[in-house]
Amino acid sequence: MSTTADGEQGTTVPGGSGRVVVVGSANVDLVVDVPRHPGGGETILGGELRRNPGGKGANQAVGAARAGGAGTTFVGALGHDDAADLLLASLDRGGVRTDLVERVDAATGTALITVSPDGENAIVVAPGANSHVTVGAAQAERIAAADVVLAQLEIPLDVVRAAAAARRPGALLVLNAAPSRDLPDDVWAAVDVLVVNEHEAADLAGASGDADPSTLAGLLLERVPAVVVTLGGEGSLVAERRPSGPLLTTVPAIAVEAVDTTGAGDTFCGVLAAALARGADLPDAARLAAAAGALAVTRPGAQDAVPDAADVVALAERAANPDRPT
Ligand code: ADP
Repeated sequence: MSTTADGEQGTTVPGGSGRVVVVGSANVDLVVDVPRHPGGGETILGGELRRNPGGKGANQAVGAARAGGAGTTFVGALGHDDAADLLLASLDRGGVRTDLVERVDAATGTALITVSPDGENAIVVAPGANSHVTVGAAQAERIAAADVVLAQLEIPLDVVRAAAAARRPGALLVLNAAPSRDLPDDVWAAVDVLVVNEHEAADLAGASGDADPSTLAGLLLERVPAVVVTLGGEGSLVAERRPSGPLLTTVPAIAVEAVDTTGAGDTFCGVLAAALARGADLPDAARLAAAAGALAVTRPGAQDAVPDAADVVALAERAANPDRPT
């Protein structure tokens, strides 16, 4: 965190070297297309089973690493099973350091996902190994060397707490509060940047679902110094606490042909963290993340849909200078 000329804490890491530690979940996603979601007591036949690497933590780690987060480390837990091998291979392909991933005596986290023809997902998660993530001495040491620590809420809150406590002064804790749940005061107090979609923002702000994003961001700024509310195909809203009042920046989405929106939010968070870790300010980091999120929705899957840094930068530049010939 830095201090600006007007005395307010800014959400930047001046001189950041791009080091990111992502603390979170890893799941194998078992995905089946269904004609409709089954009701209680019902059995229906679906299509072919797909087995994809997923989990918010692992997805975001791949997002940060592909965006060039120098030495992005994933801190998480996997079982001793095939699903763990699938996830480690995907993290390795994404350029994520996996040396601090623990292997525990529990099944690797698994998400059972049915997808109806209108694209609606119904998901059951068996957290398994994700309930056993720990921040031990080696993980704490890596976190202490990071510029940005990125966490989500698919792991126990105590792990988020421990990761926050292990940060060096000046490093940022970016919390993607997904899935949303009540947060205790000490966790609120540790957050530098909160990233939430509209539903999570409304839950956390205790507001009704139809409150507008700037109202939600204003309420959340009472708890944390900076908030990014993502709005799917509508882009995102960046809100920062300033002595003169909230500073709101609208970041438009980049128009693309959406194929599969799975993982857009995770790609957004990973790329945002990597950009902050290199010293970008929050609105600029969100612009880069928007380009990454847009590219992610043009491809199927989550980790496999994460774009390369060069494509992200090229799209962000095209979006910023639409009239410049390419
Ligand atoms: P979540 O998956 O967590 O709900 P969002 O759907 O809000 O997250 O997506 C995160 C970001 O990805 C958005 O703020 C936007 O920048 C980008 N994005 C998502 N969907 C689209 C889309 N259809 N077209 C372009 N960009 C998108």
